[in-house]
Amino acid sequence: MKKFSGSFAVSALVAAMSLSGVSQANVTDKDILQDQSTVEDVVSNGLGPRGQRYSPLDKINTNTVKDMRPVWSFSFGGEKQRGQESQPMVKDGVMYVTASYSRVFAVDTKTGDELWQYDARLPDGIMPCCDVINRGVALYDDLVIFGTLDAKLVALDAKTGKVKWKKTVADYKEGYSITAAPMIVNGKVITGVSGGEFGIVGKAEAYDAKTGKILWSRPTVEGHMGYIWKDGKKVENGISGGKPGQTWPGDLWKSGGAATWLGGTYDPDTNSVFIGTGNPAPWNSHMRPGDNLFSSSRLAIDPDTGKIKWHFQTTPHDGWDYDGVNELISFDYKDGGKTVKAAATADRNGFMYVLNRTNGDFIRGFPFVDEITWAKGLDKNGRPIYNEEMRPGNPSASEDGKKGSSVHAVPAFLGGKNWMPMAFSQDTGLFYVPSNEWGMDIWNEPTAYKKGAAYLGAGFTIKPLTDDHIGVLRAMDPKTGKEVWRYQNFSPLWGGVLATAGNLVFIGTPEGYLKGFDAKTGEVKYQFNTGSGIVGSPITWEQDGEQFISVVSGWGGAVPLWGGEVAKRIKHLNQGGSIWTFKLPKS
Ligand code: CA
Ligand code: CA
Repeated sequence: MKKFSGSFAVSALVAAMSLSGVSQANVTDKDILQDQSTVEDVVSNGLGPRGQRYSPLDKINTNTVKDMRPVWSFSFGGEKQRGQESQPMVKDGVMYVTASYSRVFAVDTKTGDELWQYDARLPDGIMPCCDVINRGVALYDDLVIFGTLDAKLVALDAKTGKVKWKKTVADYKEGYSITAAPMIVNGKVITGVSGGEFGIVGKAEAYDAKTGKILWSRPTVEGHMGYIWKDGKKVENGISGGKPGQTWPGDLWKSGGAATWLGGTYDPDTNSVFIGTGNPAPWNSHMRPGDNLFSSSRLAIDPDTGKIKWHFQTTPHDGWDYDGVNELISFDYKDGGKTVKAAATADRNGFMYVLNRTNGDFIRGFPFVDEITWAKGLDKNGRPIYNEEMRPGNPSASEDGKKGSSVHAVPAFLGGKNWMPMAFSQDTGLFYVPSNEWGMDIWNEPTAYKKGAAYLGAGFTIKPLTDDHIGVLRAMDPKTGKEVWRYQNFSPLWGGVLATAGNLVFIGTPEGYLKGFDAKTGEVKYQFNTGSGIVGSPITWEQDGEQFISVVSGWGGAVPLWGGEVAKRIKHLNQGGSIWTFKLPKS
């Protein structure tokens, strides 16, 4: 009897799959390059390799969105309800989405039925700094590829969820993990690593997407050797940034951080992978005089060789954990009839930067938050003009040598903007930046590197700046630096933005709402409460002539863990774990 019911379940599943037209995902490089304009699928993180998070779909628009309603919701189940920061992918009627604790689900886009689930078997000793989150998969050929909390890349059969290949990217016992969605560039899967709070050495690595064979490795701390694999042989590929110790004292470059924890974007025009790097380790900046390259920077990397083409450092000699990982989004604009090949990024440090994406030259920069205390501004090259009084003091200068002077710095280390990706609308020419207004008391303490242990040398308490809001969704003009409109939210914003040709901008809130705004005015046009806080990134696609919007719901991430007084203020928010999918009623 048991055997019979088992085989019945399998054949029923096969029948269900063929009935709903579910077929094997066969994603090509062309599919990924064209992702933004092909509205029937979402096959890249960022709705296109440039990460603009803009869709040309307009059936759901400022006039019709009021009628939008959920058509299905799917629960991730289990007890593993922590932060859900994933961006779903959609291909041929199947949604591929990750969940907390390195889980992957394939779901029928029409019904919300589960097709398969994969649970990574994680060791006890994983060391994620900032919740057990995951930000999504990459799709290539018939594979679903994602990174795990124990720093592995896993490729699953898109049809069955069975493991096709698995690679260890780094040793989790040293503090490495992977939470970002990998990216696919010309048949290569490119990933970064997390672990900047444990004194790891950041790196970007490329693997053959079909086989998992390593192709190149590029460390992101000055002085470390890069490698390229030719015919299976490991060959030295140049020291990152020249010889060790130029911008680091002593041996500190050996545990220098600069984690590439948010992955990157790809610009086909310049054939560049743009990947950001986190804080230099440890946080206590008095231990490491110098610029500490390539920490808190944006890097342009050649996807074919792993060479660093240029770098732009947003916070040299960072002393506030202003990780420079935020997405660098390519866009073109006209200046006096000339097309400028630009890219923009909004940094944890509170400044937004517009760069020339062909060479990394600084074009302009401006604050995108109301208050910045650690710097007085940016110089003509985009380098911060420090307010030295706002650098937390040297513990060696204190009486007992145990605690340096504390400062109240703004923004807090969780940033004017954290991981949550902004969107760029090709219609309005504006960036929609999810930001937060908060400050912190921060001080330095002595510390020493120990493999696999926290390596901060700092203490801190995050504090709100106002009673009525922390989160601010801002429409920013990259040509003028002006804020065009804003929406203020009580809780910190922690989810990604979606812009559409329907003149709409969507974002989720920790209070649970998926909200839609008029892209030109900021007027709230839609809201629906998903039952738990949203810290994921919404997507949109078209199926059988109808436009769909999906977003993952499930409160968590870094804020409840690290948010100090802010975390106390929002401790009533409930956890969850589900996908919600919306559309307009037929006719
Ligand atoms: Ca597409
Ligand atoms: Ca950090």
